[in-house]
Amino acid sequence: MQSLTDRKKVVSDKKMTFMERIYLPAILGGMWITFKHLFRKNNTVKYPEETRPIAPVYRGQHVLKRDEQGRENCTACGLCAVACPAEAITMVAAEREKGEEHLYREEKYAETYEINMLRCIFCGLCEEACPKEAIFLTDRIVPSNFERNEFVYGKDRLVEDLNDRIDITKRQNTGKRTEK
Ligand code: SF4
Ligand code: SF4
Repeated sequence: MQSLTDRKKVVSDKKMTFMERIYLPAILGGMWITFKHLFRKNNTVKYPEETRPIAPVYRGQHVLKRDEQGRENCTACGLCAVACPAEAITMVAAEREKGEEHLYREEKYAETYEINMLRCIFCGLCEEACPKEAIFLTDRIVPSNFERNEFVYGKDRLVEDLNDRIDITKRQNTGKRTEK
């Protein structure tokens, strides 16, 4: 049959020479290659002590933002969940009660809001879809874990801490995205 390329190699079953049979030249050749690598630049990154620089457009762990008064921006409209191609977002909406105006900016808020980080492909479409500037992707890396259910992030890990606000302006202004 006609070959598509000329890369075919005819296999020979000729008898091995004495030098080939003792394998020493091949072993020494292999050791020489290993030895040469001792003097080459090491490409291994000693994570987590060292980290690779990440691009300004990197999209990592989400944050649910609060406004300047510390109220949650999210109004549980569900547009992020609809836009999500991985169906990673779920939420339950609730009505704001009297006296909760300092907690939630709008009359409706997300009582629960969850993102399954194992489903998420960090495309950023939830951020694009949000009309309330409530959800943003940051340059924070989602930490590894041995338990699958630990990757379902609820409001406790998504809503920004009042005392540790996350600055998303840098990423938003540098060709769109970086933080903290
Ligand atoms: S980044 Fe993309 S995949 Fe992840 S939750 Fe947002 S829309 Fe869904
Ligand atoms: S994060 Fe934005 S799009 Fe998603 S439910 Fe909240 S307000 Fe709506």
